[in-house]
Amino acid sequence: MNSSIAKIGDTLKTIRETTGAMDNFKNEWDKVLKKVTDNLASKIGPIHMRAPRPDEFDMTPEITDLDTITDEIAKMEHIVVLTGAGISVASNLPSFRGEGGFWTTRDKQEKVKASEFLTYTNFISYPEEIWHWHHELRKTVAMNNPNISHTCLADFQVFCEKSNRKFTMITQNIDGYHIEAYVKANKAIEQGLDKTFVTTSKDVEERKLSDLPQKQANGLEVVGNSYSKADDYEEKKLSDIERPSSSDFNKKYSICKEVYEIHGDINYMRCANNCSNKFFPAPEIGCSPDFVPKCPNCSSIARPHTLFFDENYLEAFYRSNSLLDEIQTMDCLIVIGTALETNLAANIVAQAITNKKLIIEINIDPVIKYGNVKYLLGQAEQIVPNLCELILAKFQTN
Ligand SMILES: [Zn+2]
Repeated sequence: MNSSIAKIGDTLKTIRETTGAMDNFKNEWDKVLKKVTDNLASKIGPIHMRAPRPDEFDMTPEITDLDTITDEIAKMEHIVVLTGAGISVASNLPSFRGEGGFWTTRDKQEKVKASEFLTYTNFISYPEEIWHWHHELRKTVAMNNPNISHTCLADFQVFCEKSNRKFTMITQNIDGYHIEAYVKANKAIEQGLDKTFVTTSKDVEERKLSDLPQKQANGLEVVGNSYSKADDYEEKKLSDIERPSSSDFNKKYSICKEVYEIHGDINYMRCANNCSNKFFPAPEIGCSPDFVPKCPNCSSIARPHTLFFDENYLEAFYRSNSLLDEIQTMDCLIVIGTALETNLAANIVAQAITNKKLIIEINIDPVIKYGNVKYLLGQAEQIVPNLCELILAKFQTN
């Protein structure tokens, strides 16, 4: 009898400890979300957001696998994808927050964090230095390519659009790779290459994730042998890089209205004096490192079309309000390779949590700790192509 009572006592103690730990966890997460949403509200104005309350959630994240999650995603009517720097690592691009997130200033000869250096205040004081940073990164962007994750997501998006499913692509990256991949995917369809839809359901049945070859980090080798775009991705040379024509870049935003580049696009610039809301192609790759271009409209200084760290989101340039309207109908949010350290991205995730939508986080170290979250652990380029293939195969057989 006594031993039974002791056992019950131990069990109750364990339950109390577990509950206490869970409460602490929820309180901490609540604080983080509140900070994010308060900060956001002060920055982007009339968006009515609040941090979810801990008692609104009875779900905690769990690790999932491709087969399990594919069935769930395939049932969704509006899929939203949010990407961060992790998706472009395989295209050899540095992250703002990783090792490549530092910049050595020439006058002070010191290393500064990108988040402290890339500010509007600095742009006004040192436009040559800020443009120098952009020219360097543009060169890297131009010399590399969208990788297999960009391409598969673009195929996924185009397929959804052609089959009347709603798909919203949101990126925090400024490399323009999602749009480049999207334009290519659309061109492939126009040319009748519908098999660039990654694979057929038969292929998927025959292949297992563990059997797939690991792709190279630079995205030149593709997964499996049913993928037909490898030839598009040979290494670029500076002399081969095509400049966007003046008609192309203005079409871009109407062609790609479903791709939200919420922090801008390094391939474009606009008037720093706000004489208009027009975008213009950034200067030639390989221009003088300190070259500060002028606005083609009014000849005042031009600025990169990228959001500086001390700036607010504006609808005219980043379509932030349109985006928040659009995600009202989302059923499912796929978050790829981001630490969610920017306000709008964190807001999108907070909305999904609040509305108890399915969230799939693809990351090496997941950051979403709360809500109906399923983790796919690993690098984007190892998971995204397989996930896209499986979902498309599911769509095609439904
Ligand atoms: Zn101007």
